[in-house]
Amino acid sequence: MDVISVVQMKQLLLRVATEIVSNETYLTKADTVIGDGDHGVGMKRGFSAVYEMLSAGEFDAMADIFKAVGLEIVKTMGGASGVIFGTLFISGLDGLGDSKQLTAPQLVMFFRQGMEGIMRRGKASEGLKTMLDALIPAVTAMEETGRKSPDINFVLKSGYQAACEGVEATKSMRSRVGRSKNFRDTIGHPDPGAISLSLIMKALYEGAESL
Ligand code: ADP
Ligand code: MG
Repeated sequence: MDVISVVQMKQLLLRVATEIVSNETYLTKADTVIGDGDHGVGMKRGFSAVYEMLSAGEFDAMADIFKAVGLEIVKTMGGASGVIFGTLFISGLDGLGDSKQLTAPQLVMFFRQGMEGIMRRGKASEGLKTMLDALIPAVTAMEETGRKSPDINFVLKSGYQAACEGVEATKSMRSRVGRSKNFRDTIGHPDPGAISLSLIMKALYEGAESL
């Protein structure tokens, strides 16, 4: 698939919301081991609201749907992750104008800008055991795949696989930012936000495959 429409993107984002909501327990467990245990609850609250908002809404342009999702997350989720996951969408949409569809290079650009927005906002970078340790490798992989192929499915698949490897890599990192740094030793356990990012990539990839 070389182009995705706004209507198709809505289907993918609904799938993302369902994936996050249905993994609440898993995310809560991950945050209970290394943090304060609220990640699953916050993500569920935010993405339930996203699901409702998307179901009820109609969107003309790609930027409209991303902006609506980002604002809904920031408004409803709270905590560090509300700002962080909201910023992925809000910074990501820069430059899309009133485009009604997305190509693979535009999709890759969306993720790069989202990632850079999160890094500016949260003043974190690689290796600090955050969702960036799944997002940065995902962006790198998608850029590499995108240079070889215009196929959105290939791009998303490589992003998903790299995000999963990123989650694995967070197990050997020690938390340095966010609340989890105040808790017990985090070595050996994955970062909950990185797991969430991998679930977002999973739903986007599987959603694109099923279109
Ligand atoms: P809180 O830290 O407020 O309890 P959550 O538990 O919902 O919020 O989210 C924690 C997740 O947020 C972490 O697992 C990490 O991935 C992510 N995170 C925290 N701080 C940052 C940051 N500065 N940059 C990127 N991600 C971050
Ligand atoms: Mg937490």
